[in-house]
Amino acid sequence: MSLALQTFSTVKDASAALQAAGSRYLGGGTLVVRAANEGDVSVSSLVRVADPGLSRIAVSGGKVRLGASATMAAIARHPELAALAPAARAVGGPAIRNMATVGGNLFAPAPYGDFAVALLALDATVFTEDGEMPIETFLTGRDTSRVIVTAVGFSLPSMESFRFLKVSRVKPKGVSVLSIAALLQRTADGTVTSARIALGCMADRPIRALATEKALLGSKLTPQEIAPALAAAGEGITPITDPIASAWYRAEVLPVHLGRLLSQ
Ligand SMILES: Cc1cc2nc3c(=O)[nH]c(=O)nc-3n(C[C@H](O)[C@H](O)[C@H](O)COP(=O)(O)OP(=O)(O)OC[C@H]3O[C@@H](n4cnc5c(N)ncnc54)[C@H](O)[C@@H]3O)c2cc1C
Repeated sequence: MSLALQTFSTVKDASAALQAAGSRYLGGGTLVVRAANEGDVSVSSLVRVADPGLSRIAVSGGKVRLGASATMAAIARHPELAALAPAARAVGGPAIRNMATVGGNLFAPAPYGDFAVALLALDATVFTEDGEMPIETFLTGRDTSRVIVTAVGFSLPSMESFRFLKVSRVKPKGVSVLSIAALLQRTADGTVTSARIALGCMADRPIRALATEKALLGSKLTPQEIAPALAAAGEGITPITDPIASAWYRAEVLPVHLGRLLSQ
């Protein structure tokens, strides 16, 4: 079956073309082109936008805006995004990171979507041609989404407040057994005043660890004080099973790795 590629100079025109049956947006193509090559007949046409503005990374006044076509490699080497570099570097190997985009990562099903886990912990806003929405709303509705994501925005976290961990069995570029991102605000004596924790592979898309977040408030991240948060880590999760790990295994090791991340 032939695969058409349509290139547009504006998001608006590409968006109109994307409404046709069988059309899919083309980011870096690491997932959608592979799917087409592997015989996914639901894809008959790829639509892309040749606007360099979609690859722009802007950091100003403590705010970050990543164009949807910004690649993981570009984020990982950006001098002002050191706090995010571990999450960007967690995506595949160098060849994949040179192609893999922010926009595509938002749509990537588990065990992929490591960068989207970081964006969820950062409470990112997802921008589309039509407007903007919180990342949680976007992730919930992404399966039926026909809009083109143009950018994501969030407040730049400090190195101290943002933590990211990916667990894989093949080093350095295996897919996730799980990934965890945590944005923690603490007082001078180390007491947690706010916690936002996102998990990858604990559902078909990134989810928040709401019970853990709540249990962490007021704690000091000592082994004793994080114990209730770790005990609550299993609440609301439905881990995936794939050739890398079973749902049972993922659920068993989640508190172990969460404990390591929080004790860092
Ligand atoms: C060998 C290999 C290893 C990988 N390892 C990892 C890994 O470790 N971690 C990880 O997270 N991922 C991994 N991936 C998956 C993938 O590379 C990344 O998730 C990547 O970020 C997807 O982005 P993309 O631009 O390539 O997406 P594409 O393949 O271009 O698109 C993926 C989906 O998103 C849609 N889409 C893309 N951009 C937009 C947009 N701007 N607006 C609307 N829809 C859009 C496409 O239509 C498609 O449905 C791996 C893939 C491969 C092949």
